[in-house]
Amino acid sequence: MKAAVYFGSQDIRCTNIPDPVIRADHEVLVKVHATSICGSDLHLYRGALDAMMEKGKSQTGHELVGEVLDVGKSVSRFKKGDRISMAYSCSCGDCYMCEVGQTAHCETTQKAVYGFGVPFGNLNGTHAEAMVIPHADAHTIHVPKQISDGAALTLSCNLPSAIIANKLADIQLGESVALIGCGPTGLMTLDLTLQRGPGRVVVLDKVPHRLQVARDKGVVAIDTSNAGWKDKALAECGGRGFDKVIEVVGYPETLQMSMDLVRPGGTVAAIGVFADSSFNLNLADVFLRDITLHMNGFANVQPYMWEGLRLLERGVIKPEQYFSHTYALADIGNAYDTFHQKRDNAIKMLIRP
Ligand SMILES: [Zn+2]
Ligand SMILES: [Zn+2]
Repeated sequence: MKAAVYFGSQDIRCTNIPDPVIRADHEVLVKVHATSICGSDLHLYRGALDAMMEKGKSQTGHELVGEVLDVGKSVSRFKKGDRISMAYSCSCGDCYMCEVGQTAHCETTQKAVYGFGVPFGNLNGTHAEAMVIPHADAHTIHVPKQISDGAALTLSCNLPSAIIANKLADIQLGESVALIGCGPTGLMTLDLTLQRGPGRVVVLDKVPHRLQVARDKGVVAIDTSNAGWKDKALAECGGRGFDKVIEVVGYPETLQMSMDLVRPGGTVAAIGVFADSSFNLNLADVFLRDITLHMNGFANVQPYMWEGLRLLERGVIKPEQYFSHTYALADIGNAYDTFHQKRDNAIKMLIRP
């Protein structure tokens, strides 16, 4: 079958690999109807994990909507023909971490993540014609037919992450909010924030077309590539800092921006995926200004997929609007490059096998 494979930095290609087959009773074989590229895939694309990757072998992709082709003997919740999505991280549902809701830290799978090769459990990926889901009962979800493929794809990662960001920030009526990062997850986070009765909302990013999407929702959008962005942002909250800051990027600089923008006693919810092994954080500043700091790089999305599905079914959020491009799987190299360069007003890429 056809599948996207990592060959090196900025070199992810569609190639032919052996068809996947069920090898364990807890597995499900799925035909991929659609998949997408996530901002976190760009860490892989730009070579952040290059030294650890099996080049020419590791598959990519962790966002899925598909159809069950076959099930292992112990799978009880799914049957052939079911339309499904799954969490980006593979969790067993039985270990201590799964039971306490820390599904991204599953002790059985050792924190395995789809589409990131050997460093993350050597699982297969969704950028393929078909794939196998181990421990399927634990982190796969039925998707009703009225949910579009685009919306369903966001259940794997982006939408539950946006829900988690809002829960961690715990925005109260009238509070001022700064949101750093207007990628797909940032924009979904903003959609949910705007429904929580905030006061002033300011978003920050460097990509003009993404800032415009946010501005069209009625918020103040500030380009951080322009000098003076910080004063401009702080002027929106009387210079004292924001009650809540949500970070949806994942760089040391954007974490520092969060610290620069939060008021004493405020909350920073950082859900961006940090690929750097270390970064400077002034803990004295966190301590002396009574900052509540939530870091949530490996989001436990499985416990929030049900909530995400309810939001889609009830029309609370419409993430289809963020799919700017559709590519064939055979052309995935171009999809990665366009997304990476943020060319052609790219926001989110849908991939059809
Ligand atoms: Zn993702
Ligand atoms: Zn587990």
